[in-house]
Amino acid sequence: MELLNRSLRELHSLIKRKELKPSELVEAVLKRIEETEEKLNAYITVTDEKARRKAKIADEELTKLSEDEVPELFGIPLSIKDNINVENVRMTCASKILENFVSPYDATVTKRLRERGAIFVGKNNLDEFAMGSSTETSYFGVTRNPWDLERVPGGSSGGSAAAVSARSALASLGSDTGGSIRQPAAFCGVVGLKPTYGRVSRYGLTAFASSLDQIGPITKTVEDAAYLLNIISGQDSRDATSAKIPVPNFLDALNGEVKGLKAGLPKEYFVEGVDPEVKERVLKVAELLEKSGVSVEEVSLPNTKYAVETYYIIAPAEASSNLGRYDGVRYTYRAKEYKDLVDMYCKTRAEGFGDEVKRRIMIGTYTLSAGYYDAYYLKAQKVRTLIYQGFQNAFEKVDFLITPVTPETAFRIGEKTDDPIKMYLSDIFTIAVNLAGLPGISVPCGFDSKGLPVGVQLIGRAFDEETILKVADFVEKELKLNTVPEL
Ligand code: GLN
Repeated sequence: MELLNRSLRELHSLIKRKELKPSELVEAVLKRIEETEEKLNAYITVTDEKARRKAKIADEELTKLSEDEVPELFGIPLSIKDNINVENVRMTCASKILENFVSPYDATVTKRLRERGAIFVGKNNLDEFAMGSSTETSYFGVTRNPWDLERVPGGSSGGSAAAVSARSALASLGSDTGGSIRQPAAFCGVVGLKPTYGRVSRYGLTAFASSLDQIGPITKTVEDAAYLLNIISGQDSRDATSAKIPVPNFLDALNGEVKGLKAGLPKEYFVEGVDPEVKERVLKVAELLEKSGVSVEEVSLPNTKYAVETYYIIAPAEASSNLGRYDGVRYTYRAKEYKDLVDMYCKTRAEGFGDEVKRRIMIGTYTLSAGYYDAYYLKAQKVRTLIYQGFQNAFEKVDFLITPVTPETAFRIGEKTDDPIKMYLSDIFTIAVNLAGLPGISVPCGFDSKGLPVGVQLIGRAFDEETILKVADFVEKELKLNTVPEL
């Protein structure tokens, strides 16, 4: 367990100094997975045999490398959300329709991690096609929160967050369309970073809502997040929306120099309906920063109130189009009995998709249909621009924003499954960040009286992950919370 609590940087230095063998580390993670999976269900697929084989090869290779030849992730086991392709490994997106689909190629992020020596131990559970906030819509069953097994880990990257929290993963990659990295990170007491739209290639991430989706790290610490962001960032010719913007060394930003920075507290994020304990913990962070030389002022993001509605028009519209490809012809699942081609499509999709996915496809098809397109989709696009402009205005005055990640801490399994609107509202503070394409990070900032983790969200300017990483790292080091659950 001691090994599993170490940072990626520490593990790297142990490995390169040959004080730790890749196979020892891989065994430690696999053992922890074995100990915890029955309780958590954080993985859909564990690639134990493959990982052992790769670790053995790495042990060998290591003997031939000098210290400075060992790449940053050499022999380090990682897990990946199961909507990101890992070559020759099953990728289900937590859906029956892809139950037996095996990825023919690596996503760009996976490839980049692999090139630096990472070993993949498995694929983490999620809400079906990343649609959800609790990992309850997975065809493979709910993941449980390591802090309280009766509660959800958040979602949709709930498997990744639960595994990192329980130390059955050293770090994981998730995806965030409306909060799916930050919200589960907050619920599980770990760090979750959604990079700026375009910072990280989406090639090989199963498309949900392409103008909102972004891959990012879910880690134990801010340093680990910066460590992985360094590796996965950068332009990729396979993703036309990946930005040609230089990638700094994000680790250099973690220098504690927060003095002189300007923070904004958007008043729309501290309204009624936010659990007073959450509010209090988040405002404590603002106080702490103020004492450390950060100026804190109230700002306003007036269109925040439209964010959820706007998202639930744009995201389903894109999803309905993106999910058109699961037709029973090109991918794995096909209905057994059907009359003709159209009947085959209908039955395959009726049997293969779960309720939430069908709901999104129906909403999306409706808002894109002739006669409704202008009233819904086009209107939502205009509101999206206003939301973006609201952030721009705020960033003329301040360098970053401090908000809660969620209005409440982890809720009970089943508590919101009958009421989609209630479920949708759990992303009320994360969604606007995706609509505006900005970077956001969730960092643990305390616990509520039930002993559940509370997260603070820091939002930055586009392509300025450095500032939010710097502040997040500072906050983490000042608070020194014990974020390891007893399990
Ligand atoms: N919970 C939101 C949704 O259900 C966001 C999901 C995500 O970020 N992938 O769409």
